Amino acid sequence: MRASRFPLFTSKETPADAEIVSHQLMLRAGLINRLGAGLYTWQPLGLRVLRRVERVVREEMNAIGGMELLMPAVQPAELWQESGRWDLYGPLLLRIKDRHERDFCFGPTHEEVITDFLRRELRSYRQLPLTYYQIQTKFRDETRPRFGVMRAREFLMKDAYSFHMDAASLGETYQDMRGAYTRIFERLGLEFRAVKADSGSIGGSVSEEFHVLADSGEDEIAACDCCDYAANTELAESRPAAPADEPPATAAEHETPGISTVAEQARLLGIESQRVVKSVVVMADDQPAVLFVAGDDELNLVKAARALGVEEVRLAEPEEALEATGVPRGFIGPAGLRDGLRTLVDQRAAGIRNFSSGANRADWHWVNLNWDRDAALPETADLRTVRAGERCPRCDGRLGITRGIEVGHIFQLGTKYSEAMEATVLDESGRNVPMHMGCYGIGVSRVVAAAIEQNHDDSGIIWPEPMAPFQVTIVSINAHKSERVATESQRLYDELQAAGLEPLWDDRQARPGVKFADVELIGVPHRIVVSDRGLDAGTVEYRHRRAEDNETLPLAEVVDELRQRCG
Ligand code: ATP
Ligand code: MG
Repeated sequence: MRASRFPLFTSKETPADAEIVSHQLMLRAGLINRLGAGLYTWQPLGLRVLRRVERVVREEMNAIGGMELLMPAVQPAELWQESGRWDLYGPLLLRIKDRHERDFCFGPTHEEVITDFLRRELRSYRQLPLTYYQIQTKFRDETRPRFGVMRAREFLMKDAYSFHMDAASLGETYQDMRGAYTRIFERLGLEFRAVKADSGSIGGSVSEEFHVLADSGEDEIAACDCCDYAANTELAESRPAAPADEPPATAAEHETPGISTVAEQARLLGIESQRVVKSVVVMADDQPAVLFVAGDDELNLVKAARALGVEEVRLAEPEEALEATGVPRGFIGPAGLRDGLRTLVDQRAAGIRNFSSGANRADWHWVNLNWDRDAALPETADLRTVRAGERCPRCDGRLGITRGIEVGHIFQLGTKYSEAMEATVLDESGRNVPMHMGCYGIGVSRVVAAAIEQNHDDSGIIWPEPMAPFQVTIVSINAHKSERVATESQRLYDELQAAGLEPLWDDRQARPGVKFADVELIGVPHRIVVSDRGLDAGTVEYRHRRAEDNETLPLAEVVDELRQRCG
């Protein structure tokens, strides 16, 4: 491509509304253009990157036997009513009507459509297992579209679905898919981690997310420094602490006027904050519950929801807490708590001896309480959020906390959709049985942004080679004044193309400084500079985007040399 005919709509200004570096650089480098909230045009330069990601994804999906298909973006409401998600999906689902006032949605995902397709076509278990995939545009009316294509409303997803006779076969394909995802992100040159995940509204049991590690990531991940245990901190398991081996002391009540934090309580009573058991009032699907956790721990609301078996848990408002317990906040505790309230204790808090907690009357706290002796031990569960540095739940390693960007998600759905939508096949004995299903997504457009978060410097993007829109740039210095520079640049451009490389030739009549700045901003890995001075010595200047200094290459060897360096 010649830059004189392939406009690079680059900009020096950092767009004011772009909060993270990938969003800023994608706009500045002219990869994308904003149309509206969460809606972007992929400019030709950006589309070249997107297509490269797609190519790797396709190759790896095909390699594990995936068959590509293409389903409609617009889906009839009836299918979503059958699966029960027309109501469940909420405002994320963009609902539309056709001219006959019939309801449709713009697909945020395609479980219903593929299940409908296969329930019509498949008859016998002998046809299974099967895996289909597509690379297609999704729409989700996100509450907060932000970070450019990272959290867009319209975005490109690779979604795959597998169909099986039984759970064992689903387990095998799930592992193949896990392998394919690992190869995809490795080939793209990204630093990533597979992470145990919550399966959210899609349902099913086993699920893992693939996260590209980056400080700007919206998710927090706990990962072991020793084994491959990694989980979203929303559900990373906490290792139960061994109960303290300590004789019970005599309980005593102390006046603690006006205190409101664990730190104040500990200071006033002269104890450590890990000897405090704090009582947190929550609303579990609108029913109050009191949860006990150690004073230095943070209650994890996602774990609490699982433990209580409800959809959602939130902290109670002060009035709600007062109404439920009859005690002002800060003074609630397990000893003498109002009867009939649902309670749970974190497994670590359950192991604390001689603890302090609220006395269930304003301005008073207990010290030296013990479970069973002073308060009945409630049902125990893992309710706390893990912290950096603590022991891994699987081995003796330590957990580190990093941030990640979710670029992929794989699920074992089981028979959730096939039962709801009666997608059955005949088994060996001629009975109709629901198929087992898996679903597997990659945020293709998000991968592009995530790669930039991991690969950039002050001058711009540094593409991992497999994603680069062009492999080489040829920067011609003053070609409009020097016939020789123009001719040699053209020759190199032709020869690089003939060698199977994709060069971008900056043949614009612009100052060298402008050209260098653009080439660095758009992040092409290899750059050669053709100038009169170099040609006098029979050389060109070469520089890798990550290198500090230029190298001098003999003109006659440039093409071979680049062919090797571009792999
Ligand atoms: P998130 O938690 O980030 O909202 P999700 O868990 O709802 O994502 P999935 O249903 O698992 O998303 O979709 C598969 C993949 O699609 C995700 O792993 C992610 O990479 C991508 N994706 C999801 N929502 C968006 C979005 N709004 N913009 C860009 N990519 C997205
Ligand atoms: Mg997900």
